Amino acid sequence: MLKDYSFNLPTKIEFGNGKIEKLGYFIKELKGKRVLLVTDKGLRNAGVLDNIFRILEREKIEYHIYDNVKPNPRDVDCMEAYEMAKRMDVDLLIAVGGGSSMDTAKAVGTLLSHGGTISDWYGLDKLKHPITPLICIPTTSGTGSEITFFAVITDTVTKLKMNILDINVAPKIAILDPELTVSLPPLITASTGMDALTHAVEAYTCNLAEPITDALALYAIELIVKNLEEAVQSGDNIEARENMLVGSLIAGIAFGNADVGGVHCMAEALGGLYDTPHGIANSMLLPYVFDYNIPSNVSKHAKVALLLGADAQKHSSDESIAKEGVKILAELAEKIGIPKMKDIENVNTNDFEYLAEAATQNVSASSNPRIATKDDYLNLFYKAFNEEL
Ligand code: NAD
Repeated sequence: MLKDYSFNLPTKIEFGNGKIEKLGYFIKELKGKRVLLVTDKGLRNAGVLDNIFRILEREKIEYHIYDNVKPNPRDVDCMEAYEMAKRMDVDLLIAVGGGSSMDTAKAVGTLLSHGGTISDWYGLDKLKHPITPLICIPTTSGTGSEITFFAVITDTVTKLKMNILDINVAPKIAILDPELTVSLPPLITASTGMDALTHAVEAYTCNLAEPITDALALYAIELIVKNLEEAVQSGDNIEARENMLVGSLIAGIAFGNADVGGVHCMAEALGGLYDTPHGIANSMLLPYVFDYNIPSNVSKHAKVALLLGADAQKHSSDESIAKEGVKILAELAEKIGIPKMKDIENVNTNDFEYLAEAATQNVSASSNPRIATKDDYLNLFYKAFNEEL
């Protein structure tokens, strides 16, 4: 029997090459008078923002820029951006960038509309009404944050990545313009693409999966598997960039309504402690958690493996098809240049107890399809570190 579920997509999605030219129209639709553009210096230096500045000036929109967003955005930076937004009396936020810029903007919107400090809003369904209107313009094909109802913020006191989980944090409009992702360097294309693949795989296999998210997740896996290597190798292949952006969007809609699982529990623990880029942490851990989870639902894991390219003819059981999927995930990460866990700066096995405990505390821990104790996570951290597949 199918279990109950609800499905939400409150964000309006605008997709297309050159769609950014309509930014002024969307700002007017949301009645924005004074805008804070939330972004990072890497994007500014890559020239991605030049066209957006030109459009805002052409449309005579008053705007201010906060460009101090850091990867794995921290609570203190969100407060700094919020202070600026308050000073400028902004009534609309625009995030241009990856998940870090979009999540920072969600945190700023939360503070502008609800006051307090950011830690007041960690947890599920704490907001009373929608945050300050937000337009998200993703420039990576990875997080899906442009349509999710989450903001992931690093708490500088506990060094844990915390979540605001609330439908009220959803952006009003997501503008997906694949041309804005062409400047992504190969390693960030690879790691963010693997993040999107992890979202799709975990959405499909987690405890909260349901028929709509299953359909979305399977299509997202297909799109990402067919296009990721090409996007990494030939960054100016616009078709590969388009498909990666759609894949990441659809994977975001899937996991935003289902959830993620053990890979994210472990990756967020790593990111909180070592500041490891989120996509890299996910890609390093995905094969190990996928392998661990196979017994929870062999046929679903085999289905993922087939989409990844496993050869059904070579196998006599779903379990062995699923096992080939584990190998393919590890090979894919290697092929596109994802570093190994051993090569990540500061990673120290003495921290594994702490990391395993943090993984069990993660908000998505109960969504992993196979119960994972602290010892299980500890074992998985060691397996990933020693590359024992
Ligand atoms: P990011 O936002 O940290 O950006 C990574 C780097 O890519 C930055 O240096 C940036 O300057 C550069 N960059 C981005 N776009 C570029 C472009 N077009 N050209 C050149 N350089 C570009 O990376 P991310 O992986 O998109 O975001 C990671 C964050 O998102 C993590 O904190 C993670 O926890 C969070 N996240 C949030 C959600 C959510 O639903 N809210 C989901 C998954 C992940």
